[in-house]
Amino acid sequence: MTGEPEVIVCGEGDILDAPPSIMVDGMFAVPIDVVSVTASSVLDWTAKAATTKAKMKFRLGPEGGHPLFDIRQLTFTSIKLDGVPLTSGQILHRDLGGGDKAEMRVIAVDLPACSEHVLELEYPMDDPRSPRTTSRSSNGSRPSCGRSARAISPGYMVERWLPANLTYDRFKLTMTVQVLDSPSEQAVYANGEIQELGFHKWKISYPAHFRSFSPMFRLQKGGAHTHSSAILEPKGGEPVELDVFLEADVGKTHEEVQAEIAGYFDEFIESTGPYHLDRFYVLINPGDGAGMEYEGATSTGYLSLKHQLFHGWFGRGLKPRHTNDAWLDESWTEYVIDEVDVPVLPLDFAAPPVVLCSDNPWSRHMPLGVFGFGERVFATIAAATGEADLRLAMKLFYELRAPGLFSTPEIEQHLYCELQEPVIRDVFHRFVYGKDGPTPALPPGYCP
Ligand SMILES: [Zn+2]
Repeated sequence: MTGEPEVIVCGEGDILDAPPSIMVDGMFAVPIDVVSVTASSVLDWTAKAATTKAKMKFRLGPEGGHPLFDIRQLTFTSIKLDGVPLTSGQILHRDLGGGDKAEMRVIAVDLPACSEHVLELEYPMDDPRSPRTTSRSSNGSRPSCGRSARAISPGYMVERWLPANLTYDRFKLTMTVQVLDSPSEQAVYANGEIQELGFHKWKISYPAHFRSFSPMFRLQKGGAHTHSSAILEPKGGEPVELDVFLEADVGKTHEEVQAEIAGYFDEFIESTGPYHLDRFYVLINPGDGAGMEYEGATSTGYLSLKHQLFHGWFGRGLKPRHTNDAWLDESWTEYVIDEVDVPVLPLDFAAPPVVLCSDNPWSRHMPLGVFGFGERVFATIAAATGEADLRLAMKLFYELRAPGLFSTPEIEQHLYCELQEPVIRDVFHRFVYGKDGPTPALPPGYCP
């Protein structure tokens, strides 16, 4: 990365991947291109309070209108757009058809196409996560991403705490975090550049290519993890700088964990294609194995390590354009990583349709059915095409598109055109898009 300013022609760049503009409450709501988010938070241990000042620079695309963004925090002490105060009634959440908790904030100010602006927010920071839980029982041994409401409710990424955009948009995030009066030593774990500005004060700069699902940030009591670093030289790949933070209760040595990760890199480069970053940052915690993937990083239990690392290929290497498309990250990862010892059953076309990918572009829910069901979409295809051909077609899709974005119709089209198997369109129609009735006729010129 150079320090050169990014030159973007209006209407090009990330805005091309945004959902379409939409009328809501008499406002023409338009997606934006966020350029940067800069935030400064102070956490006061004695007062049990945190306050944040955040500044979001953004541009409109070729359509003027009312800008769309999100932040799940609810109470603001100051809101300014280009230095002019707004009321909280002017940045309300609106449902654009995405449903509960997938609402977007609409700025109730009509702004011209291609113009640049700054939104400044000040707020006491609270955890906006819904207390409602929808956790699903699991068999206790199968590793995965968080299999609770945590990983599948909308609004759990950067927008949980800071102003941010949907996953189609890359933006530069820089945060300063200060902890006051902590009775114990605190440590920051993050997949950005961490600069210590003073006692319990850090600045974290994340790369400009990061999206709302990319940054990892954890502030926790220091001293629980030991650290090791290494340079991996995977077979057929570029060197990767590895940082391992390991909790003692995990019961593994750094040498064991490093060797295991090195083996996974060799395996995934061979099976899927190149790793698109030069770094992997992993925090391994005790516990049942659930974890979360970030770009070039994970915070995970030991049992989920392989699953989370594979998201460096599917999920955070090749990336879902919209949250709707994220079913594939989990389904393919479960199919190739987690279920190797258990036969995954093909789907029965007499069963009712299931939605894994909503056709509403503003939906930000990942259906619970993704876990355990989505992998059966691939088992259904493999039963018709053979396992080896399916894997080769997925590898080719990855190699053609990573580290960019994919959509669900794009992978459907790729698999169908590569493998020429009608069941692929049938299984997507009924068990990915959740449509009843016959699969639509093949559109003319569908395969290039
Ligand atoms: Zn996962």
